[in-house]
Amino acid sequence: MKHLTVEHLSKQFGKKQALFDVSCQFSSGITALLGPNGAGKSTLMNIICTLLKPDSGAVYYNGQDVNQVKPEFLGNLSIQFQSQPMYRNDTAMEYLRLCGALKELPPKQVEEEGRELLERFGLADTGKKKIAAFSGGMRQRLALCSTFLGAPKVILLDEPTAGLDIYEREALKRFLCELKKDRIIIVSTHIVSDVENIADEIILLNEGQLRANGTQPELISGLEGKVWELPADAALPGSYYSDGKQLMIAGEA
Ligand code: ADP
Ligand code: MG
Repeated sequence: MKHLTVEHLSKQFGKKQALFDVSCQFSSGITALLGPNGAGKSTLMNIICTLLKPDSGAVYYNGQDVNQVKPEFLGNLSIQFQSQPMYRNDTAMEYLRLCGALKELPPKQVEEEGRELLERFGLADTGKKKIAAFSGGMRQRLALCSTFLGAPKVILLDEPTAGLDIYEREALKRFLCELKKDRIIIVSTHIVSDVENIADEIILLNEGQLRANGTQPELISGLEGKVWELPADAALPGSYYSDGKQLMIAGEA
């Protein structure tokens, strides 16, 4: 059953058309929003969470315009922004307490869940260390902890793997798979391997337009006969595309 629907969203910044007539649906599970930088992923997420107003179109949660049921909708939603603001003088736990208070969660729940999340994301031993002294990856993991706090029903993650190493990326994937039941999780990324094997649905965005959507097997079957794999030595200078043009190696004149 579909719960979150985006209908005919368009958004322009000056002359730049960031989104153009985008319609899609998100159901329980993990949906990947896949596209290169500038595709419109963050714009779409910021509109879904009501931070940005679209020029036209609307977002519906359980059939109701999210702007009409904003307090209820936002009470069910959590977003990890591409660059999440934090107080540099807070410790990890202090930051989670602040986020918990903003989400109006009971303090006891924040302490318990906060500790579990910090443990899970490898931040349990940061103690009194201030965020100012955190690495980029640590801040990113803390942003993720704050997003998962309170186990919201709709979770938006905007480039969640930025700054994470390969082990942390895999750990995040595992965590999302455990969490996805009965939750709408939308993950934006430009890295296919971040969502490979975990995304129930994939939405391909490019230049503000929805290019394709479906399950991974559906998208792959649509590419049959259009993609080839070449052995590495076949991709050397002197190789040719099927149209007769010579294959160029990146960096060649
Ligand atoms: P993505 O998240 O996929 O990298 P964005 O949604 O951030 O893409 O941006 C889509 C396009 O809209 C880009 O060309 C970007 O430069 C432009 N854009 C986004 N936000 C703004 C803004 N506040 N002002 C002007 N241009 C913007
Ligand atoms: Mg972005």
